[in-house]
Amino acid sequence: MSLSQLARSISESPTLKLNETAALLRDKGEPVIHLGGGEPKSKAPIDAIVSCASLLSTGDVKYTPADGIPALKKAIIRYTEEHYGRQPAAENVIASSGAKQSIMVLLHAILDPKEEVIFPVPYWVSYPEMVKLAGGVPVPVAARSGGFEPTIEEIAENVGTYTKAIIINSPNNPSGAVYSDEFIAGVVKLCEKNNLYLLMDDTYNRLIFDNRKPTNVYDFTQAHGLDDSKLVVINCVSKMYAMTGFRIGWTVASKDVVRAMTNIQSQETSGPAAPSQWAAVGALNGVQSSVESLRLTLENNRNVMLKRLGGFSGVKVVKPGGTFYCFPDFSAYEKDSQKLCHLLLDKVRVVTVPGREFGMEGHLRMSFCGTIKEITEGVERIKWALDPEAPNELYLGDRKLVRDWR
Ligand code: PMP
Repeated sequence: MSLSQLARSISESPTLKLNETAALLRDKGEPVIHLGGGEPKSKAPIDAIVSCASLLSTGDVKYTPADGIPALKKAIIRYTEEHYGRQPAAENVIASSGAKQSIMVLLHAILDPKEEVIFPVPYWVSYPEMVKLAGGVPVPVAARSGGFEPTIEEIAENVGTYTKAIIINSPNNPSGAVYSDEFIAGVVKLCEKNNLYLLMDDTYNRLIFDNRKPTNVYDFTQAHGLDDSKLVVINCVSKMYAMTGFRIGWTVASKDVVRAMTNIQSQETSGPAAPSQWAAVGALNGVQSSVESLRLTLENNRNVMLKRLGGFSGVKVVKPGGTFYCFPDFSAYEKDSQKLCHLLLDKVRVVTVPGREFGMEGHLRMSFCGTIKEITEGVERIKWALDPEAPNELYLGDRKLVRDWR
């Protein structure tokens, strides 16, 4: 079979692959604990369901404008006013099939072949592949300190004649780090000085802990309006409303960028599915208590996971300021994160994601979006698998495991 060079250069999404593996093992009756997941357990808000169902009940489900139905754009404009203090025009807004498609269409709209896109390490797994899909060159920038936030100087050192954009995701998947205001301000300044696009991936913007306020990137821009700025803000209903399966994300950007994205999207998909758009309208305009209740649950889960990991000598973990991920350093036990991830799945049926996929070896991404029982038992099983001091036997349900690998 002959496949394109592009297809051959793109790897499968490791997180989606792990979801599949976990589901297959569960179907076989294996007692899998999934700490690799990327979606909250809670249900979609009732307002989303009612709004979606009322469209479905008409049976009149048709094409929509490629950039989104007016009601969704209105809801996004209201959301932007409330959470960012900006008033985009309808022409500054485009809805897409998830933040993933928002990012992909944006990259197609701004990148010429071989142009470079910078993002900090650790990064969301999909950024490098998405940049490559759009013909660009990914440029991950690691902090020399070994931490989760590079310095502005480290980012600036990588800006060259081919640089077109910088992507910032805060709170960050996989580290849970919330970048400092100084860092965000510095990146905005760097982009404005060098005429670069700045893509703020605000997927987890409101899932933030310890009484911190979500970062508003517009606070740091010198631009007068959206139309004379290369600042692009992407959001979605996926995480904050626990609506991953609806696949609705959106972009707020200059009219020129939105027009280009709309042309591309109109040729690619004709726009997001109508029932999902109405569900997003319901979520955005409806009662907002589910967001705060999810945030509180996640903060509590974060605390439980940190406490459990704290009892693990040798594992270094930085407290996540947001999201539902933490990114502990297991290199004292095993430097090869893929090997470690496979060992944990094979031996104790715990799913984690190897740090290597996010550009940082020796770490594992562990989600705390599941139940407290999953978190505590998952960490317990990992500890048993790795800690030479742990007893030699462990029961998974009625199955007795004997540790023969350490
Ligand atoms: N950006 C980041 C940082 C993410 O973690 C995700 C989802 N895992 C997305 C974008 C994509 O979100 P969506 O499901 O809305 O496509």
